[in-house]
Amino acid sequence: GFNCGIVGLPNVGKSTLFNALTKAGIGAENFPFCTIEPNAGVVAMPDPRLTKLAEIVKPQKTIATTMEFVDIAGLVAGASKGEGLGNQFLANIRQTDAIAHVVRCFEDDNVIHVANKIDPAADIEVINTELALADMDTVERAVQRVQRVAKSGDKKAKAQQEVFEKLLPVLNEGRPVRSMDLSDDERDLIRELCLLTVKPTMYIANVSEDGFENNPHLDRVRAIAEQEKAVVVPICSKLEAEIAELEDDEKSDFLAEMGMDEPGLDRVIRAGYRLLDLQTYFTAGVKEVRAWTVNVGATAPQAAGVIHTDFEKGFIRAEIVGYEDFVACKGEQGAKEAGKWRLEGKEYIVQDGDVIHFRFNV
Ligand code: GDP
Repeated sequence: GFNCGIVGLPNVGKSTLFNALTKAGIGAENFPFCTIEPNAGVVAMPDPRLTKLAEIVKPQKTIATTMEFVDIAGLVAGASKGEGLGNQFLANIRQTDAIAHVVRCFEDDNVIHVANKIDPAADIEVINTELALADMDTVERAVQRVQRVAKSGDKKAKAQQEVFEKLLPVLNEGRPVRSMDLSDDERDLIRELCLLTVKPTMYIANVSEDGFENNPHLDRVRAIAEQEKAVVVPICSKLEAEIAELEDDEKSDFLAEMGMDEPGLDRVIRAGYRLLDLQTYFTAGVKEVRAWTVNVGATAPQAAGVIHTDFEKGFIRAEIVGYEDFVACKGEQGAKEAGKWRLEGKEYIVQDGDVIHFRFNV
């Protein structure tokens, strides 16, 4: 599975958001085969297409695809020097696929701000500086290592040395490596460093209930994100915590009252998914209609491998109906009759929304 680490200064609303996510999420009892840490929550990917497919197929079970959120508390200025829980914090971030950085954009005199004033730009800088310092440390050590190897004439080490040295001045300014225009080759050369500031990042601007518009704090976060190639998801975590407490039928009334189409959490989950360049395909049998996550660009056998490694190894062909066709033709039979059913081979690149039945050898 894929996961997204939630970071931010103390008192910005991380726990409030994380608790709302876990409430809305899937209990650990549904994942008997994996260890879910107490600071991790698994949420279902909101996808109306799944409901639509289930209406057509009427399966015994409907299973959404999921994403994991990890609450990574403990980042303070000085973390990269091992202050507070600094080292542990950085180690935890290193293990995540993406970063959700919560930034306080709400005013509330009752909630103390660590620096005594609401200043999203300054808050973002504190965290980004720590991450950049940690990366700088990593890169400096890597430069020394590849330098030695490069001296013996190793071409790859030479190339790595060049790219690594390009990163240093950027990190030195506290800027993230993801903001750099690196070629694909350069990205490949730095991959093994597992840098923190390369990870796809979204800023979660935690606003007050009426802070979605005409909010200079939010505008500031948007401006910063644009420079860094990050995305912004405005959310009111306090409101989300209230929504997460409601029963499903109360929920829709409450959302309608607030003029919202969906909980803000859904936007967070979806943003995490997009950030990681993920997409969904479906399997639609009478026993189970299910959504699965694959990388954009995955081939049919790779997609089969998400279900089971044997499916990938023994892959023969994939029977495919596009989501729109499946719905328009009211199922597989209809799609077949309408000529919308396709048989695809090993090279096929899976498209978002494909309804797939794999044929494989065991
Ligand atoms: P964390 O330290 O980043 O995990 O922050 P918490 O989630 O514990 O929130 C710190 C305090 O801010 C708590 O008292 C929350 O109730 C409050 N808080 C969180 N989100 C909001 C919000 O959107 N609006 C307001 N007014 N208070 C909030």
